[in-house]
Parts: sequence; structure tokens; C-alpha cells
Amino acid sequence: MSIIAENIKYVYSEGTPFVTVALDNVNMTVEKGDFLGIIGHTGSGKSTLIQLFNGLEMPAEGKIIVDGVSVGEDKKKLKNIRQTVGLVFQYPEYQLFEETVAKDVAFGPLNLNLSQDEINSRVKEALELVGFDYNKIKDLSPFDLSGGQKRRVAIAGVLAMKPDYLILDEPTAGLDPAGRNELFSQIKKLHGKGNFTVVLVSHSMEDIAKLVNKVIVLYKGKIHMKGTPKEIYSQSEELKRIGLGVPQIAEIVLELNKRGFNIKNDIINVEEATAEILKEIRRRKNV
Ligand code: ADP
Ligand code: MG
Repeated sequence: MSIIAENIKYVYSEGTPFVTVALDNVNMTVEKGDFLGIIGHTGSGKSTLIQLFNGLEMPAEGKIIVDGVSVGEDKKKLKNIRQTVGLVFQYPEYQLFEETVAKDVAFGPLNLNLSQDEINSRVKEALELVGFDYNKIKDLSPFDLSGGQKRRVAIAGVLAMKPDYLILDEPTAGLDPAGRNELFSQIKKLHGKGNFTVVLVSHSMEDIAKLVNKVIVLYKGKIHMKGTPKEIYSQSEELKRIGLGVPQIAEIVLELNKRGFNIKNDIINVEEATAEILKEIRRRKNV
């Protein structure tokens, strides 16, 4: 089970003076169970790429294969793929429109020919998955919720479709730090339960480092780097060269090493960095 992108090219406004090659020669795989981060700055092609994953857009060249089925080859299978690959757009709360939270979350499942009982139980389960008390939230208006809560309702709407893949486009954009932490911890839990393969799109290294087990760096529509967070952060000079920030702690290690320290360069958490820095200071005192 996987989503495979094979030699993908995607072009906007083909045949006009505004032609933009948004993706070029992209090859990658999302394996079942992955917690994959796609990182790159604005315009690098992140949103375009994930919209290909469920057939919302079709590539100019190449193929997307979801669980063995080539997207778009069989129109009848497209509905199934859209349900398997759940896409949460950037600022998904703009798509909330029903008068209650429960109705909003039920909107997708209503199109699946399910019984009312099944719909109700999916709505309840989805809202609980994103950390709500179902009875407290179900009859509220989505518009009375905080930014972070609205976003969790929008994610519940996608979860209620029971996707295998949950793809989130900059899910914490515009949230305050508390809302951001809350949402990231919910997403981490969703992945931890083992029911979802998660793809997290972000332009922030800091956010991705702590969560994912694989990183893809997009740069100008191409895959620039691929690897575990440690493999990626050990190349912090290159990340900086292409204008992506590195986690603050990686930055500190990089600067210390420039000044003659000799600390492992793949550290991504503060505890490990502290231990390594202390070890290095002690070593230097003894020589
Ligand atoms: P990201 O999500 O990483 O910011 P996008 O996939 O949105 O990147 O954009 C990739 C490239 O495609 C950018 O150069 C962007 O300007 C261009 N682009 C995105 N959407 C459109 C569109 N609807 N029409 C024309 N060009 C677009
Ligand atoms: Mg985007």
C-alpha cells in the first residue's frame, strides 16, 4: 500500500506567456504507515504535488499510483481514490459552512450512501479523534469556535470519510503557538494510533523535525533532498543555501562547529544537543 509519484511534471497556464512549471521530474513514495514531511518554501510546488495525490489535478507527464491503481486511468475508481486519500487544504476552515459542527463533519459521508446510523457514528468518532468531546461540540456553530478548533473540525470532516492517507497542507498556518502545539499533538496522536499514513506539508523545518520520520525537500518544483530528519538536518549548510531555515538547535550546533567545536551535526532535539555540547566542553577542558 503506497502512493507513488513517477516522473511527475505539472505545468500551469500551458501555452500562455504565464506558463509555470510547478513540478518537474518528481519521483517519490509515501509508504503505508509513514509520517512524511514535505517541506519547501512558498512556490516550491508542495500544494500542487499533494493535489495530484487524490486526482484533484492531473499531471502533464508521469503517473500517480495509489495502492496499485493509476490515478485517472479509470474514472470509476477516482471516487474511491478521493476517499482513500484525504486532503486537508490550507485554511480548511474557510470551507466550513453548516450551522452545526456535526452537520459540517457529516457533509462528506452524506455522499457515500451510508445509513444515518453509520454517518452519526462516523461523525462522533471523527470529532473524538481530533480531541473533542462529541456531546459538547456537536451542536455548536463552527463560527463560534477558535481558529484552532475550526481547523480541527475541518480535519474531522476529512477523517469522517475514513481515509487511509491523511494529507495536511500547512495545517498550522496562521494559528497562535498554543493552537499550533495543540494541533500538532493531535496529528501526532492520529498517526500514533496506526490508522493513518500522514503527509504533513510545511515550510517550517522546526515544526517538521520533531514529528515526521521521513522528509522530502522540494525546491523550485524538484525534489532536492530526501531522507530521515537527521539525514536532512546534517546538511544544514545546504538547507540554508536554498533559503530554508533549520531548527534553531541545528543552527547553534552549526555555529559552534564553525568556531572549532566538534559536535555531531545531525542533532534535532534540545536534550541531545545539550548533552553533546557539555561533552565537548569537558573534552576541550581536559586537553
Ligand atoms: P507551494 O504550495 O509550495 O507554495 P504551489 O504548488 O502553490 O507551491 O505553487 C507552485 C508554483 O506554481 C508556483 O510558482 C506558483 O506560483 C504556481 N501556481 C500555483 N497555483 C497556480 C495557479 N492556480 N495558476 C498558475 N500558477 C500557479
Ligand atoms: Mg501551498
